[in-house]
Amino acid sequence: MLAMLKCYKPSLPLCSSPSIFPPKASIYTQTHKILTKNLQKSTAKIHCSSSLSDVESKSRTGLCCNGGERDGENGKSRELWLFNSMSKQKELFRSKVEGKVGMYVCGVTTYDFSHIGHARVYVSVDVLFRYLRVLGYEVNYVRNFTDVEDKIISRANQLGEDPIGLSRRFCKEFHQDMEDLHCLPPSVEPRVSDHIPQIIDIILDNGCAYRTDADVYFAVDKFPLYGRLSGRKIGDNRAGERVAIDTRKKNTADFALWKSAKEGEPFWESPWGPGRPGWHIECSAMSAAYLGYSFDIHGGGMDLIFPHHENEIAQNCVACDKSDISYWIHNGFVTIDSEKMSKSLGNFFTIRQVIGLYHPLALRHFLLSTHYRSPINYSDAQIESASERIFYIYQVS
Ligand SMILES: [Zn+2]
Repeated sequence: MLAMLKCYKPSLPLCSSPSIFPPKASIYTQTHKILTKNLQKSTAKIHCSSSLSDVESKSRTGLCCNGGERDGENGKSRELWLFNSMSKQKELFRSKVEGKVGMYVCGVTTYDFSHIGHARVYVSVDVLFRYLRVLGYEVNYVRNFTDVEDKIISRANQLGEDPIGLSRRFCKEFHQDMEDLHCLPPSVEPRVSDHIPQIIDIILDNGCAYRTDADVYFAVDKFPLYGRLSGRKIGDNRAGERVAIDTRKKNTADFALWKSAKEGEPFWESPWGPGRPGWHIECSAMSAAYLGYSFDIHGGGMDLIFPHHENEIAQNCVACDKSDISYWIHNGFVTIDSEKMSKSLGNFFTIRQVIGLYHPLALRHFLLSTHYRSPINYSDAQIESASERIFYIYQVS
C-alpha cells in the first residue's frame, strides 16, 4: 500500500483514503478497459465517412475507421487510417505482407533519464502497437537504443564512466520508465554497439559516400529525392543539427556516416580506420537488419523528420533501390506552460520526476488526452486533472 501511496501526490484530497486503491495490475486492467471503451466511442462517432477531412475533424485519437471490414459481432470497423508524413494525408493502412506488420521506431539516446517528450512518443506508439494487435496483425516492433553518440561520450567523460557502461545504466532506467507507463516491450531492441558490422556494410553499399581523411560523409546533392519527406530543399538545410560542423564537407548539408576516433572516445575498426558511426546511419542499418529495406511503419517524434528521417531515407534508397517504407508517422511536441520544453529554459521534466509525484497512469492518460500529432501542453493543472480522472476511473469501475 505504501508503494501505491507514493504514486499519488500527497496534497490531493482524494488520496486521503488509500484503502480504496486497487492493486496496480487491477488498476491497469480497469483503466485500459475504460481507455479502450473511449477509443471505441471515439471511432464509432465517425460514421465511416469517405471524406478525409470529415474523418480528420472527428478523430481525436488518430485512429479512425473507413467503413470497410466489419467485426461481425458489433459492426465496428476493423480498419485503420494513418496520417502519413510522406504523403501529408491520411491513408488506409495496408500491410505489405498479409497479417504481418514491420514497425521501426527511433529509440532514445541513453545518457540521462528520459523526459516526458520521450514518454509521448512511446506511449503513442504503444497505442498503435496494441491496436494493430487487436486488428489481428503479428507485429514485429523494433525500437533501437542509441548507445554510441556525442552526448553519451561527453556525459561519460564528465562522470569518469565508460560510455557503453553509462548507456547500459540508462537503458535499464528507460525500461523501468516504460514498464511504469505500461508500454508493452518491443519485439527487439537493437543497440548500435552490437551492430557495427551491419553499419559498416551499409556504408560500403553507399554510392553517395565520400571520404575526408578518416571520416565518411553522405553527399546529399547526389540523391535527387533528398527533401521528399520534410519538404526542405538542400539550400534550406542547417549544418550542425546533431552533426558536427566540418569545413571539409563538400556541402554543409552533407552528414557523417562514419567519424574517425578521437582521444578518449569508444571506437571500432573499419575500412576507413578506427572510428564510430554517425547517428543517422545506425537506424538505416538496424531497421534493415530486422525488417529489411521495405517495411510498413517508421515512426518517431516530429523533430526527427529533419534531418534524421530525411537522411535515413537517402541512405536506404542509395543502399537498396527497392527500399520502400509505407507509412511515416510522427507525434507532436510536448510544451511546458505553453513554452517549448528545454533544459536551458529550466522547464524540463523527466518521466521519473513526474511519476514520483503522480501515478504513472496519470501521465499516460495526460499524454493520450490530445491527438498524438497535435502539440500537448504540460502544466500542473493538466497533470492534476489527469490524476483526478484516473482516480475517478478507479472509483467508478
Ligand atoms: Zn532513428
